[in-house]
Amino acid sequence: MGEFELIDRYFKRPARRAALGVGDDCALLAPAPGMQLAVSSDMLIEGRHFLSTVDPFKLGHKALAVNLSDLAACGAKPLAFTLALALPQADEAWLDGFSRGLFALADAHDCELIGGDTTRGPLAICITVFGEVPPGQALLRSGARAGDDLYVSGTLGDARLALEVFRGTRSLPQPAFHAARIRMETPTPRVALGLALRGVATAAADISDGLVGDLGHILKASRVGACIDTSIAINLIANRGHLTLGNGQFDAETALECVLAGGDDYELVFTAPPSARSRVKAAALQSETSVTRIGVIEAASGLRLVDATGQPVHRRFASFDHFAS
Ligand code: ADP
Ligand code: MG
Repeated sequence: MGEFELIDRYFKRPARRAALGVGDDCALLAPAPGMQLAVSSDMLIEGRHFLSTVDPFKLGHKALAVNLSDLAACGAKPLAFTLALALPQADEAWLDGFSRGLFALADAHDCELIGGDTTRGPLAICITVFGEVPPGQALLRSGARAGDDLYVSGTLGDARLALEVFRGTRSLPQPAFHAARIRMETPTPRVALGLALRGVATAAADISDGLVGDLGHILKASRVGACIDTSIAINLIANRGHLTLGNGQFDAETALECVLAGGDDYELVFTAPPSARSRVKAAALQSETSVTRIGVIEAASGLRLVDATGQPVHRRFASFDHFAS
């Protein structure tokens, strides 16, 4: 199978919304009049972002999911995406699974594949997504204000837990591992929540590298600090019940580490004023996404962790950094 046959067979579908899709030198995309285009790219490299043994269907899902998560964080509606693919060989079973996983999620979000590039090389996937948002309505990292509530969506830390099981540094009972693995391999981009938070949230980011790090981007861009109640945050890990120490005690350290710095969550962290609490609740209901208030934004810079009684929790958490030494 040659390069162009591969593209035709696995990635070319009739253009729908796009004025011109796969097959020419450029695709042509016509955003709705007056809308701003939201554009974001994410790359997935074998061995760094995914294990070589991963099911290609799930990899297709995840490659697009991590990109849609960025649109969600901006409150943008997905429109289209491009796919740049480096493949060691044209493996039909792999291409079949990958493209099915990719298009299943794409179709669920009515997001159209409009072009890309295909080359031979070590397995790498780079997707660029295009979304639309009314001018001035994109959720930015820079809008958090002192006094705002701090929220996260969904659950956090389970992807990290699954990764540790894969690495052999931790073991979990089979059903717990299964649940954690779903979170790691097929994350759910919170697109509907992002859309529902337009005009409600003051700032937002998606959690890809870990809550502490991604919240840190909001704090820096907004020139504020924050306080997180760790007694609430610790419950965000779905598999909490399975984190036991040798003597059967709950392993709070691990749970908190996974929640605050686990990464690969693809949930949203966002802020909104206390006056918007009922609207945040309505956005959560409308998007069928759970949302938890975990703290507040403060004027003083830095992130403080406190326990249920407001006493400081003195621990440091570092989010993932590809170039940290
Ligand atoms: P060019 O070299 O002129 O940029 P290519 O020959 O690389 O174009 O690709 C031919 C067509 O197939 C283009 O329209 C391109 O966007 C599309 N394409 C290539 N690879 C992919 C892919 N993995 N998924 C979707 N479209 C692709
Ligand atoms: Mg090309």
